[in-house]
Amino acid sequence: MKKKIILTASFIIAILVILIVLANLLKKEENENNRFRILTSFYPIYVMTLNITDGANNVEVSNMAEHLTGCIHDYTLNTSDLRKFENADVFIQNGKGLESFTDKIIELYPNVKIINSAEKVDNIIQDEEVNAHIWLSIDNYIKQLNEVTEQLVNLHPENKTVYTNNKNIYTEKLNNLKSEYETLNISKNKAICLNEALEYLLKDVGLETTTIETDHEQSTLSAKNLKSVIEQIKQENIKVIFIDKNDSDKTADTLAQETGAKIYNLNSGMSGNDNKDDYLRIMRENLELLKNIEF
Ligand SMILES: [Zn+2]
Repeated sequence: MKKKIILTASFIIAILVILIVLANLLKKEENENNRFRILTSFYPIYVMTLNITDGANNVEVSNMAEHLTGCIHDYTLNTSDLRKFENADVFIQNGKGLESFTDKIIELYPNVKIINSAEKVDNIIQDEEVNAHIWLSIDNYIKQLNEVTEQLVNLHPENKTVYTNNKNIYTEKLNNLKSEYETLNISKNKAICLNEALEYLLKDVGLETTTIETDHEQSTLSAKNLKSVIEQIKQENIKVIFIDKNDSDKTADTLAQETGAKIYNLNSGMSGNDNKDDYLRIMRENLELLKNIEF
């Protein structure tokens, strides 16, 4: 009799354990189904979104072009990129035409909402082309942050408080960074820039920069162009050439050799250590570099 009771009790316990495990599995699946899945286009937008969503419930942030070290403009989508759109609720992009594949995404994944971070940002136009590389201007970056936060709150109101608080915290950090930049005293100096992604930063610090369109230093300048830039450097006694740290420095080297100007590697922030404070780190490194230049 006693043995029978023990057996029955063990049986009931076993059933209970199975039920608890099943319930937990179902709950986990439900949580995963309820997750708000955010996909960002590339690194600057990814870092911004990590800040906005920090500590938010039921949110997953992933970066589409996660292995890209250069610029997303002229980027070709691969099958692994496309797969990431299958489960995404929203795609956050820079905008201003930098992501040239957006039409394809709208066609293939009509249910994915698209946020354009650059919606309210004024842009520089050079040779009738919009310079879409806006994020290295801290003011622009703050406008992008506001736009993305506002749109995320609309699409996912349950996290309104978290998103808004995070945006305020991040804005304060960015304003501090801006104050540090305001101590820089290099305006009115002249420089040559061979990477259009650096143009907004150089404009912000007041440099009189001539930006040469080089597709991020990937294209070689024609002999005629090269000659006219060399002449300009000599005539205006320009001592500084800016490129990005990931650029090929072929054109810059030629210019430096011909004129004695010096090459400086700034960071346009298109890749990094995946930390949410990485934009601040990169911009502080740029600031240190700019402080120590002899114009
Ligand atoms: Zn670009």
